[in-house]
Amino acid sequence: MAKKEFKAESKRLLEMMINSIYSQKEIFLRELISNSSDAIDKIYYKTLTDDTLTFNKDDYYIRIEADKDNRLLKISDTGIGMTKEELENNLGTIAKSGSLAFKNENELKDGHDIIGQFGVGFYSAFMVADVVTVISKALGSEEAYKWESTGADGYSIEPYEKDTVGTEIILKIKENTEDESYDEYLDEYRLKSIVKKYSDFIRYPIKMEVTGS
Ligand code: ADP
Ligand code: MG
Repeated sequence: MAKKEFKAESKRLLEMMINSIYSQKEIFLRELISNSSDAIDKIYYKTLTDDTLTFNKDDYYIRIEADKDNRLLKISDTGIGMTKEELENNLGTIAKSGSLAFKNENELKDGHDIIGQFGVGFYSAFMVADVVTVISKALGSEEAYKWESTGADGYSIEPYEKDTVGTEIILKIKENTEDESYDEYLDEYRLKSIVKKYSDFIRYPIKMEVTGS
């Protein structure tokens, strides 16, 4: 008897992901920081095998910027970045992990530092944000792109200006509702405590800047 493949309703799957996989909303920050750390690890691994590249530790960091007045939270890194195809494949396919693929392609053994593998962490951003914008320029690429999504409705990609290699994830933090406040995800003290709780082990500097009131 011929085997048939399961079908998945991606919109429903994404909604389920966003609303029920994680018990706490605050872990979105852990997920985005781990992706940034992975992206820097990848550029580091590339420099080990490519003589034309050098890894200057000071150039690699993760930055968290909160703009209270505009309810924007930005997580940026100087990691390997994503091409247009990688934005499509890695952010446009639920449960597709570019990091797992990277580990396999580069034959990296267990015990190294790249954290990603399940290909779902990124979407946790939608627990706290109405709109997620990703601006990225890949290592070795001339062009940069902007990926944007409001969640289950899908996403768009367009060319964008970005001078340096790396990725910026910009979250438009949700408005408060009667039952829930999202203001805390723009609060410096709260953000610092979330970073300390989940991301203390990250090997790259995590810089923070909060503006507005
Ligand atoms: P995972 O980390 O388990 O692979 P995610 O859903 O967190 O899954 O991320 C999906 C993929 O998107 C990653 O594997 C990676 O290829 C890509 N990605 C996400 N964030 C970044 C980033 N900041 N820089 C480069 N690539 C990223
Ligand atoms: Mg991840």
